[in-house]
Amino acid sequence: PETKLLDYPIHQHRLLPLVAQTFAMTFAAREMMASYKELMGELSNLGDAKGAAIADAIKNLKETHATSAGLKAFCTWMCLNIIDQSRQSLGGHGYSAYTGLSQAYSDFAVHCTWEGDNTILMLQCGRYLVATALEARDGGQPLPSNLAYLEAALAQGTAAAAAKPRTSNGAAADVGALDTLKAAWSSVAANAILGAVRDFEAGLAKGLSKDSAYEFSSAARLHAARMHTYTYLLHRFAAQVEQSPAALRPILSLLARLFGAHSAVQYSGEFLQAGFYTGAQVDALKALVNSACAEVRADAVPLTDAFGYSDYIINSPLGRFDGNVYEKYFELVTGLNPPKPTPYFDSLIRPLLERTSDFDAGPELEFDQDA
Ligand SMILES: Cc1cc2nc3c(=O)[nH]c(=O)nc-3n(C[C@H](O)[C@H](O)[C@H](O)COP(=O)(O)OP(=O)(O)OC[C@H]3O[C@@H](n4cnc5c(N)ncnc54)[C@H](O)[C@@H]3O)c2cc1C
Repeated sequence: PETKLLDYPIHQHRLLPLVAQTFAMTFAAREMMASYKELMGELSNLGDAKGAAIADAIKNLKETHATSAGLKAFCTWMCLNIIDQSRQSLGGHGYSAYTGLSQAYSDFAVHCTWEGDNTILMLQCGRYLVATALEARDGGQPLPSNLAYLEAALAQGTAAAAAKPRTSNGAAADVGALDTLKAAWSSVAANAILGAVRDFEAGLAKGLSKDSAYEFSSAARLHAARMHTYTYLLHRFAAQVEQSPAALRPILSLLARLFGAHSAVQYSGEFLQAGFYTGAQVDALKALVNSACAEVRADAVPLTDAFGYSDYIINSPLGRFDGNVYEKYFELVTGLNPPKPTPYFDSLIRPLLERTSDFDAGPELEFDQDA
């Protein structure tokens, strides 16, 4: 019998972390929309308010702007990559127009540009991270809850010792436990933000204006925004796992760990640099990714059905809800290419196909034996 693509471990590795990413983005989007609505309510109730109420509203506005800017950029890049990886995992069928994924890729690509070019949005998020870190460090301003992880790092001037994968009694904690992964990502994000602050201050020390110093630190700012957004997604994912129905908690928790561990392996250099994980612990995370992929495989179909997209929206015979792929694919292809006479078939091609060995071989060749 035919082996299903998803039963190959390498395909599980290619695709199932992307399912985890999709759940991470879905949960973050829910929370982002809730805080946006809350902010809009707060703004429309301001009336003639002055002083602290206005200052608070502006602070929330800035935070929502920065977080949503980072999320828009990060999630559209991630989504475009998911479409392309799904396309490539289907080989030539993935490229075929009938599968719908090439069309989905070109339809989706514009999201990385419109409503704000992604790089610019990431830089806006990074500028907010640098400014907020400086306001907390130098002005004693409280950190917003999404940046609470910066507190210890700002006090120490480094994130390296801020958190280690240790339990309270000092024993090595499970490196892939959700809480450990949250602490790990917080440590890496704090390190990246401190790096952007350092670059910004190096610009100022060279005599650059504030705006030019932000330009000078743009690569570090973009990196900080990326690390912060990963951390935000993992923290929101973990919060949603806790609020989910008990029956769903094991699989959602596994997906959250897969998301955190897979992305940590991708950026393992950051974790080694932050002094959070050792090389051996990164190996343990790789093993976790492998075992989590094998475990998630069993629920791959219900997990993707849970997105709730109709066949009309999926627009691909390979993604049909009822799994009747071959017949429907063939129907689609023959429907769009109805049988019709092929030019030159009867006059030239058929005689060639239907020829027999009884043909006139012509005169026998004569060889001159003495030559
Ligand atoms: C199909 C489509 C439909 C659209 N529809 C609408 C619409 O209905 N209404 C509307 O108002 N707009 C619309 N837009 C415009 C869209 O919002 C902009 O194209 C988008 O915000 C990017 O701006 P830009 O084209 O000026 O690119 P730019 O900002 O010029 O960016 C070009 C490049 O320069 C880089 N860059 C720009 N500034 C900086 C900087 N300061 N530092 C470093 N790099 C920088 C960017 O990263 C990018 O690589 C649409 C665009 C498209 C493609």
